[in-house]
Amino acid sequence: SSGPADLAPEIWEKVKDHPCYSEEAHHYFARMHVAVAPACNIQCNYCNRKYDCANESRPGVVSEKLTPEQAIRKVVAVANEVPQLSVLGIAGPGDACYDWKKTRATFDSIAKVIPDIKLCLSTNGLALPDHVDEIADMNIDHVTITINMVDPEVGTGIYPWIFHRHRRWTGLDASRILHERQMEGLEMLAARKILVKVNSVMIPGINDEHLIEVNRVVKSKGAFLHNIMPLISDPAHGTHFGLTGQRGPRAMELKALQDRLEDGTKLMRHCRQCRADAVGLLGEDRGQEFTLDQLPAEVS
Ligand code: SF4
Ligand code: SF4
Repeated sequence: SSGPADLAPEIWEKVKDHPCYSEEAHHYFARMHVAVAPACNIQCNYCNRKYDCANESRPGVVSEKLTPEQAIRKVVAVANEVPQLSVLGIAGPGDACYDWKKTRATFDSIAKVIPDIKLCLSTNGLALPDHVDEIADMNIDHVTITINMVDPEVGTGIYPWIFHRHRRWTGLDASRILHERQMEGLEMLAARKILVKVNSVMIPGINDEHLIEVNRVVKSKGAFLHNIMPLISDPAHGTHFGLTGQRGPRAMELKALQDRLEDGTKLMRHCRQCRADAVGLLGEDRGQEFTLDQLPAEVS
């Protein structure tokens, strides 16, 4: 089939079987996330560490955390049951690049057992530049970076601290370092022709207007898609925003912002912010059929 008018043919070639990037593929190809990366190196105001990271997954749900060995058993079991499985992603529940040893161990083993599965990961970007060469060597062909600002001043309203180079940074320094690392990682991936999607969490009153500028910058640096996700406001998380809490955008506000952004954004309107342990075709989640207690003990 032909691709959307706003995608270059060589990009379409890479995404047409990827259920997240192609509206059409999401009816025929399945994806799964394995929650092997619980550690995170930054603090987002909207995050509660008990739940999944909002980098990719639906925040506010608890996914079953797995060791790399458990993840491999699970992927093999799913691949046996779900023939449409084409994509394996690591989307937290923390940060796939910070918790790198587990991400790497999982992908390396899976690539040996199921060589044709597509690998993707999502990250906040802080540790990303340290791993881009390995990402390229490992044939990871899609990376999602969550970028909520390109102005560190705006970042101070989103990130109270980061952990970088063996110490904690706060305030403007934290956001400046995070911003520089995100831009560096994005450019390094684009230079290696690895597809980069940028996710932004829309936080009313904090970065909503600013996301127009984020869109312009990330597109100019080579992101092939920019996906706006609504902040999912839940009294149980996001308490760092203060006692009054922070509301998420209304559906109309989200749509109005998406309409103002450039073309490619349209493609991702079907993103479901799947759980960090989602399994199956998009819109379906068979994760509960493949919990650890239901898996065979050994990889066959
Ligand atoms: Fe695809 Fe979005 Fe779900 Fe990831 S979270 S598997 S990009 S639909
Ligand atoms: Fe939480 Fe994800 Fe932010 Fe880390 S990057 S603080 S896990 S939302």
